[in-house]
Amino acid sequence: MRNFIFPGLVFSALLMITSGCGPKEFNLSTQTPKKMFSEVAQSDSIIISGSDGTCEIEYSPDWMNAEVTDSVVYITMKANDTGKIRKDVVVVKCGASNISIDVEQGIKATHLELPNGDEIKLGKEGGSQELVVVTDGSVKVEGFDGIEAAYDGGKLTVSAPKNDGNRFSGVVKLTAGEFSKEVKVSVDGKVCTTCNGAGTIKCKACSGKGYTFKFDPSPGIYGCHACGGRGYSYRVPEPGYRDGKGKVTCPTCKGKGV
Ligand SMILES: [Zn+2]
Ligand SMILES: [Zn+2]
Repeated sequence: MRNFIFPGLVFSALLMITSGCGPKEFNLSTQTPKKMFSEVAQSDSIIISGSDGTCEIEYSPDWMNAEVTDSVVYITMKANDTGKIRKDVVVVKCGASNISIDVEQGIKATHLELPNGDEIKLGKEGGSQELVVVTDGSVKVEGFDGIEAAYDGGKLTVSAPKNDGNRFSGVVKLTAGEFSKEVKVSVDGKVCTTCNGAGTIKCKACSGKGYTFKFDPSPGIYGCHACGGRGYSYRVPEPGYRDGKGKVTCPTCKGKGV
């Protein structure tokens, strides 16, 4: 027997040396480290980068079916009627390396509220701020360029690095099932020195009042044309009389404020 086993061992040892000693290591990555699913039955896919394409599913929760073909993970899931948000991971193994993807399936949201308002203002120096979000569903967050926005455990966190450029702003959209809310986010920076960032300046024609008093063609009050007013008023405003806004668009920044 020995004589048969020995050559076999030598052969497999040689094979291991020539093939580089066991499974290969890869530097795996994905653009989707966390995947959110709504409560309905659905399928989706996630691309794993960095391997030679020979991957398998090491682990997936029993409330979904996960398969991998050529570095693409295909996930199929049933509707979530458990009444609870489900969270777990899918672990994909390629050679000797693993990558873990957070997966979450929500329940049908019945509400989405922002009890502390819908505005976040960050200073020039950057930093981060939180906003309370009240919901029973899974929250999806869509941010915009220049800021980071993330939701976790009932809080929206918005952060930005130090801003040496102009002041900018945008909207972070939160979605939970069929509900959605918008959070206005602004990051301070350089502002227009003419209007101090307001985008408008006081109307010179009416000194900001929105109307002017004139004797011609008849004495009375005229809505200031320069800032959007119109018509004539004496004791009783004529039909269509309107005050101007008292403000006009800043000529330096054309209303942008920066
Ligand atoms: Zn301006
Ligand atoms: Zn005016």
